[in-house]
Amino acid sequence: MPYKYDLHVHTGTVSRCAPATSEEAARDYAEAGYAGFVSTNHFSIDSFRHMEDRPRIKWAEHFIRGFEELREAGARRNLTVLLGMELRMHCNFNDYLVYGLTEEFLREFAENLLDMNAHSFHKLASEHNLLFCQAHPFRPGMTVTNPADLDGIEVRNGCPRHNSSNDIAKAWAAKYNLIGVGGSDYHVPTTADVPFPVDRPNSGIEVEEKICDNETLVKILRSGNYKLIEE
Ligand SMILES: [Zn+2]
Ligand SMILES: [Zn+2]
Repeated sequence: MPYKYDLHVHTGTVSRCAPATSEEAARDYAEAGYAGFVSTNHFSIDSFRHMEDRPRIKWAEHFIRGFEELREAGARRNLTVLLGMELRMHCNFNDYLVYGLTEEFLREFAENLLDMNAHSFHKLASEHNLLFCQAHPFRPGMTVTNPADLDGIEVRNGCPRHNSSNDIAKAWAAKYNLIGVGGSDYHVPTTADVPFPVDRPNSGIEVEEKICDNETLVKILRSGNYKLIEE
């Protein structure tokens, strides 16, 4: 039986736009039959604005604490939760999913990440075996990123509250030979009582081997040896 992993998940401890708690996210993914997911909280000024009176040096610790809370909630339901992020730098409104992230990388570079751009971050990412993939690149408001500055793009974004033009993203990835990733862009738990559509885990990748660490995830994404989940 293949294993399912979502590559785009937010929770409210770090992502202030996400109503989902760590417990709710773990519950929704366990119930949907996933083996795990990547925690891709927003690494953007919006995640740190409320602590603006504090030095940037605290950003990494705040971000890592949110991940660890989610990893523990996942572990209680036999889910593997890996560290990733959705990075939005100051230069524009693009969002970039970063896979293979480590706590050491965050502690070393967190203070400078928002001042970088796609070109400089991609160079840094390559030196640390991270994958740099533009999230929902054809959603309204996004700017086209030079494919040479990317490892991949999100070709399947499952958010029911946005039109991500996934078909255009798929064609773009094929044309420029980019890794095509997919994720639910989960923010809103299935049980939320809200006047807009909630998130149901509906995307990610299906693989034959278990993914227990970021090294394996990066290797699989580079190999192309996975099936996109499109429910
Ligand atoms: Zn968000
Ligand atoms: Zn997102």
